[in-house]
Amino acid sequence: MDYLLTEEQKMLQEMVSKFAKEEIAPVASELQEKGIFPAEIIKKLSELGVMGIGYPEEYGGAGMDFVSYMLAVEAISQYCASTGVIVSAHSSLAVDPIFRFGTEEQKKKYLPDMCSGKKIGCHALTEPGAGSDAGTIKTTAKLEGDKWVLNGTKHFITNGAEADIIILFVSTEPEQKTRGISAFIVEKGTPGFKVGKHEDKLGIRASSTTELIFEDCAIPKENLLGELNKGFKVAMVTLDGGRLGIASQALGIAKACIEDSVAYSNEREQFGQAISKFQAIQWMLAEMSTEYEASWLLTYRGSLMKDKGMRYSKEAAMAKLKASETASFCANKAIQIHGGYGYIKEFDAERYLRDAKITEIYEGTNEIMRIVISSSLLKG
Ligand SMILES: Cc1cc2nc3c(=O)[nH]c(=O)nc-3n(C[C@H](O)[C@H](O)[C@H](O)COP(=O)(O)OP(=O)(O)OC[C@H]3O[C@@H](n4cnc5c(N)ncnc54)[C@H](O)[C@@H]3O)c2cc1C
Repeated sequence: MDYLLTEEQKMLQEMVSKFAKEEIAPVASELQEKGIFPAEIIKKLSELGVMGIGYPEEYGGAGMDFVSYMLAVEAISQYCASTGVIVSAHSSLAVDPIFRFGTEEQKKKYLPDMCSGKKIGCHALTEPGAGSDAGTIKTTAKLEGDKWVLNGTKHFITNGAEADIIILFVSTEPEQKTRGISAFIVEKGTPGFKVGKHEDKLGIRASSTTELIFEDCAIPKENLLGELNKGFKVAMVTLDGGRLGIASQALGIAKACIEDSVAYSNEREQFGQAISKFQAIQWMLAEMSTEYEASWLLTYRGSLMKDKGMRYSKEAAMAKLKASETASFCANKAIQIHGGYGYIKEFDAERYLRDAKITEIYEGTNEIMRIVISSSLLKG
């Protein structure tokens, strides 16, 4: 589908893919197995401009578009889905809300260091009692003098352990539910803030997933992001872009499954011939490839619409729904094609399945994606 891309987008895709193949692929399994955050890799990706790919140069970004970001996240995730989500959570979920909703002062203060990768961001919405129903968050912010005082616990936060900048969603008018939520920018090192439990996960184990604890954590009044009590909109608009990032991560996983399966089926012989000569294997490859290309086109469409400034909530939900299910489908087939070798850690197929599953869950489960899509059909 190269014909849909500009020369600049193709060059970027090639550059990131080459980097990921040469520098990330050789260590991906070990990082995943040991649950090590790929700090050196993130540093190098920062030098390549990947941490601020879709943001204007005046804020330290690479000045490219969202389609380029999609291509970069896919290329990285093909070799390491953990690194893919680290980049995606930073860029889509932390840089984007500041860029979109921040004051000029906030943009100038935070974006250059975030776009250059000097500072990592995270997005803290989910709480132990508030997942899909994010309107029921219990973390609070109360204005005391010229400070907002934060209290509560967030959990399952990607980049939580490494983040220098936290985009935090709290309740400022509890009885108003979604109309009483506000967004804030919190800096690491603020007294009263600490990182809590680190989750031990099935997949994407090289990315951190942690609790964030706020106990009488006082932040400056001017750290309110967007309007008071309009934070739910900040979260939802941000998640639309985030879902395209997760769809791109899922595409990378699916692509890895296809390439590994083609290579393995050409090499592995049974009954005196390569298993790729069996129609059963050919059909699996055909289905994987068709699902991948359909998912790619949906994700590309959503990304293009975002670049054109169009509304794309439904399209982002469709892309995330389709691409995540494609990643799991392709990972299952990749294991099947590898036979017993697919089930052991010497090959990457089992890692792909463990990594794929989360794309059906985070940034809105696929049940929530179906609700977003069907409500856009049924409204009016
Ligand atoms: C590895 C990882 C990283 C994450 N990173 C972040 C992050 O960076 N920031 C952040 O804020 N959060 C993050 N999350 C949280 C993630 O977004 C939530 O886990 C997800 O939104 C689901 O919430 P929940 O786990 O509470 O499940 P629940 O909401 O309790 O859902 C349980 C089940 O019920 C279904 N369900 C719920 N409501 C409905 C409904 N109305 N109709 C039909 N079915 C429904 C769900 O689809 C699901 O199948 C992360 C989670 C994980 C595991």
